[in-house]
Amino acid sequence: MRHCEWRRFVCVAQSATPLSARAPLAMTEETSMANKGYFIITDISGYTEYLTASELDHAHEILQSLFDAQLKSIKFPLKISGFRGDAIFMYTPEACFVNPQSFLETLENLYIVFSDTLQQMQINTTCTCRACRNMSMLDLKMCIHYGDYIIQKLGDREELLGADVIVPHRMLKNHVIEQTGIKSYALFSEAAAQALQLSELTHPLVPHSESYEHIGEIRMQVFDLRPIWQSIQARRRHFVSKEEAWVSHEIDLPYPPLLVWEILNTPSLEAKVLLLDVAERTDNLGGRVREEARFHCAHEDSHFFARMIDWKPFEYYTIRQRAEPFGNIEYYQTRRLIPLDNGTRLLVTMSRPEPDVTEETRGQFQWMAGLFGNIRGVIEEELAQGRITAA
Ligand SMILES: [Zn+2]
Repeated sequence: MRHCEWRRFVCVAQSATPLSARAPLAMTEETSMANKGYFIITDISGYTEYLTASELDHAHEILQSLFDAQLKSIKFPLKISGFRGDAIFMYTPEACFVNPQSFLETLENLYIVFSDTLQQMQINTTCTCRACRNMSMLDLKMCIHYGDYIIQKLGDREELLGADVIVPHRMLKNHVIEQTGIKSYALFSEAAAQALQLSELTHPLVPHSESYEHIGEIRMQVFDLRPIWQSIQARRRHFVSKEEAWVSHEIDLPYPPLLVWEILNTPSLEAKVLLLDVAERTDNLGGRVREEARFHCAHEDSHFFARMIDWKPFEYYTIRQRAEPFGNIEYYQTRRLIPLDNGTRLLVTMSRPEPDVTEETRGQFQWMAGLFGNIRGVIEEELAQGRITAA
């Protein structure tokens, strides 16, 4: 069933991806003339486990969205050659780009689009089915090889031919995750790595090697894509998901999101919730709380300093906090409000601090996250005093 869906896309993608993108390149794409180029295959990892562990309805929608997002972002110089299972096979004539950096960034962008799409679905869903809960197990991997090919025209279809063309398909079967622990990877054959002068473009690269029947040993370089996406996250949207959280705590409250939001963002009330002696804004930006706003809070002699990183009323906000009493470690904390049928779920998540700390410290932060549970009492008191209203 899935293959039919995918086949439907083959036509769409082919018609949307003209093969001759620039006039000088047209010559190199004549049938039966040997070309040099890069062959790329992307594949969703965790796919089989995901499908077997999930309700099919939403699992199918989620996979479809991830696939659509990739297709939409596949542009020149990448050309789609075909599909196999959940994999997309592409190639790029060597002559299609001047700077290898552009090629690498094209691949990185594919990963960014995939991860953005996945994250957006995680943020937007309120569904608790297994497919929606488990989507973080999905990831994107890609294999890249460099070599010779010819294009054979079969009616209005074009097919890549050549011994090198099949190499990336074979490279999909590998032991990268087991041996390197890198889940979101671009796996470059040594031929591709050398043609791109990859070691000058990026680091770290992890050497890897696999043996394949009829091909023999292929030496490779593993490039971790995850940090690329994380650094981009740090520059724009910033959200600590429950799956990646170092510490998390959630409370269901019988009040609307806006009310919970207000309590959290009124310093005097936040202080009551978190048992603080001081909670104050310290920047000179004036006016509304927004990104770059700064805060200070303290309990006795323990001081915490925070900067607003991502402000998305009334869904979530993320702060970058520095904890003086814990050796000035820094981390991100997201406070997210998920609307429920009759209330709001407050989800507080914290990223792993930098520099790293002990398990004992994690226990202390888990305890502090638990303080958010006081919000229920604070709201009840405010309501009882008539200082706020919930309807
Ligand atoms: Zn669902």
